[in-house]
Amino acid sequence: MKKLIAALLMIAVITLHAEKISLVRATVINPADGKVMPNATIVINGDKIERVSMGKQDAASLGRQIDCAGTFIIPGLIDTHVHFFQSADLFTRPDGADFNSVRPYKDEVAWIKSHLDDVFARYIRCGITSVVDDGGPMWNFEVRQNANATAKAPRVAVAGPLISSVSREKLDLGDPPIVKVDTPDQARDFVRKLVERKPDFVKIWYIVDKDHPVDAFRPIVRATIEESHAHKVRVMVHATELETARAAVEEGADILVHSVIDKPVDDAFVKLLKDRQTILCPTLVVFERYGRVFSHQLNLTPEEQKWGNPEVIASLDVTKIPQDKLPDRIKSALADPKAAMDRIDKTYEVALPNLKKLEDAGVTIAAGTDAGNIGTIHGPALFREFQLMKQAGLTNMEILQCATVNAAKLFGGDIGAHVGKLDNGCFADLVVLKSNPVDDIAHASDIDTVIKNGVMYPADSILK
Ligand SMILES: [Zn+2]
Repeated sequence: MKKLIAALLMIAVITLHAEKISLVRATVINPADGKVMPNATIVINGDKIERVSMGKQDAASLGRQIDCAGTFIIPGLIDTHVHFFQSADLFTRPDGADFNSVRPYKDEVAWIKSHLDDVFARYIRCGITSVVDDGGPMWNFEVRQNANATAKAPRVAVAGPLISSVSREKLDLGDPPIVKVDTPDQARDFVRKLVERKPDFVKIWYIVDKDHPVDAFRPIVRATIEESHAHKVRVMVHATELETARAAVEEGADILVHSVIDKPVDDAFVKLLKDRQTILCPTLVVFERYGRVFSHQLNLTPEEQKWGNPEVIASLDVTKIPQDKLPDRIKSALADPKAAMDRIDKTYEVALPNLKKLEDAGVTIAAGTDAGNIGTIHGPALFREFQLMKQAGLTNMEILQCATVNAAKLFGGDIGAHVGKLDNGCFADLVVLKSNPVDDIAHASDIDTVIKNGVMYPADSILK
């Protein structure tokens, strides 16, 4: 019976997608090859792009035509670093700022689980048709399943719980997002347990401080990567110091997440990433958001204000919390807002030139935000990330490449091979823009229509 229902559903889906449509007279921008094609035609057949071509077309081969004159079409955007187990509200990381007395963490998690469809729709509203969840509880695997079964949702790749050098008890409600691992054997066992859930990635949280030096955790990093690779699963490593990042890549990390923020990257490091074809996801926006929220200097963009979840945004005003319930970390940030900004500025003074150097050297950079962390808004945070990438000196086309073709490489697998490009046989995941993002990357949010899997969503209708 189940099989029959599945088969009938499949037929229904195929019928729904059977229509052939053609987007005609648009300017088509394909960051994969850097080409900008005026007066182009994109033929969509079902859920796939049948062809992209320029000039006059044989009308009989086009199906239903949609006039897109004056618009600019790019591939669906990809955010390669989000966390669905975090809402981006003030209460989502009790290990960093404990508000259990204001809102118990279990209530926060229940809210998050009941608002996943809302988060999915916000990604689609922003033209983000694929996302990578870089680690969370085991229920992350259900999030991927839910997204795959939801039309108005991005394609989702996931990592399970983070393998870490430190523990985070306050996040542990029985299915912890972060798991402290003490020996290489424990790491191998845990990877084998993860592999049963078919993770797209294994994630390592390589936290280094005076009690956790780089070398102490390195054998665990090595064992995790060896075991993951033995099961053909790629490994992403959180590493924010140059020597941590270097060690991770030397041990075989496929993906580095976050930027190196403690010192300028050296030529040997750049060469190492190039030789190993390591992908780096800079997540610039998250570096400003904790400090800005805590010191009451949040700089949400108009996109975030319009398309972020209003409950999440309302929570971010720390001045609404009774004084006696404010964690010390926030009290001191409020007492010295300038110090908070100075720390952010110092981070960007290192991170932005590092990004520029890696991009210029030809390292594959994939755009990602770390959305879900406090103040980093699911969906529109990507447009703030674009601003910061521009500030680093990347060109508008380079930024588009980072958020499409490069991000698809990070996404990986069969889906990764069929998104991020406007090419025959790729999934019909597209964004129709009202102004040209090659002229100004700010236009990437000037969205007319989002197409995911061949289904068209007029932008203004998505969040209604
Ligand atoms: Zn993250």
